[in-house]
Amino acid sequence: MSQNPKKKNKRQSPGGGAALGILLALLLAAAMGGVSYGVYRLLYKAPTRSDPAPTQAPVVTPAPEQSTAAPMFTPEPTPLHVHLWKEATCTEPRTCQSCGEIDGEPLGHEPSEADYWTPSRCLRCGEELSPPVTPDFELHEMNVNMDQNMTMNYYTVCANDPSKVTVGQAVISRYSVMKSSKKIASIMGNNWVLPEKEGYEWRFLELEILFNDYNAQYFGFNIRETMENYYEMADHSVKPDFNALLPTPDPNATPTPTPNPLQVISEDHNNATHVYTQDALWVEENCWYEYNFVVEYQGQSYICTRVYDGALSGWEQGSNTFHYATAVQVPVGFDGCVFCLYDARHGMAPADWHYFYEAADQNTLYFRLS
Ligand SMILES: [Zn+2]
Ligand SMILES: [Zn+2]
Repeated sequence: MSQNPKKKNKRQSPGGGAALGILLALLLAAAMGGVSYGVYRLLYKAPTRSDPAPTQAPVVTPAPEQSTAAPMFTPEPTPLHVHLWKEATCTEPRTCQSCGEIDGEPLGHEPSEADYWTPSRCLRCGEELSPPVTPDFELHEMNVNMDQNMTMNYYTVCANDPSKVTVGQAVISRYSVMKSSKKIASIMGNNWVLPEKEGYEWRFLELEILFNDYNAQYFGFNIRETMENYYEMADHSVKPDFNALLPTPDPNATPTPTPNPLQVISEDHNNATHVYTQDALWVEENCWYEYNFVVEYQGQSYICTRVYDGALSGWEQGSNTFHYATAVQVPVGFDGCVFCLYDARHGMAPADWHYFYEAADQNTLYFRLS
């Protein structure tokens, strides 16, 4: 008797029959092309309140223990925290090493002043903050391109006709560094005596430029030179120099060239016409022009001296050679003087340029006295 109702119930179970039917429909639908989410939702039966309780035993919360002891959280006197302060540094604020508490701000670096030789460093922690200052020559991409005994083309305009260009052959024939010199037989045949000065040294060079092309013979040539500071191209008005040499054309050239129309400023002892825009003095007993200039070197100012003189060989078989010597007396170790030969088209008048990079071009020649 007990089996029958069970069987009956089982067979008659509407849920079981319906589920089976839907499952079959589902399998059919799947076979025919897939089951849609909608069908799935129809099949899915959300649990209801009438569902059997989970078989897991209910969790019984134990009753709080009855106790007569004192409450657990009696405030006790907090032990006083003594901060272990680590003093502030350039980059970290004052910090407790025990609890991490921060007090105030980092100190920040104390930068030293950078110059051309030394970087800026923090005076407190020594960290390098910025590299040495970029020298002006590098800033303006003026590259030293001459070496001793290297012959280079020197492009410049002609004296009589600045629209015409002549090309000379320039060579630094001698370069030396010395504390002093009893006698230097200079290239012009004069004997120079370079005097000693404490903390200074002389840097001496000789130069020759040979002109022998057609334009040089017929229209003459112009030479422009200057001594610049590799590190600092300061205001030209307190710096070296600029001179012009305006030789007359070759009188033996045929046909005879026209006379030099340029105004003669002064004739010097070497048969060349010089135009000096700096206050260079001719010093008769030394046989040189001389002026002073200032360089800053490793934090100090030095009053330096430059001397120079030049002469032309004169025209001979279509050639004319410019002989030139110059020396600078600079602090020992100073390697910043750069002897520059530039196209006279950029220096017909003193006002033509203020800083040398305005006069320099791709043909400018540079010899660094280093
Ligand atoms: Zn602390
Ligand atoms: Zn620092």
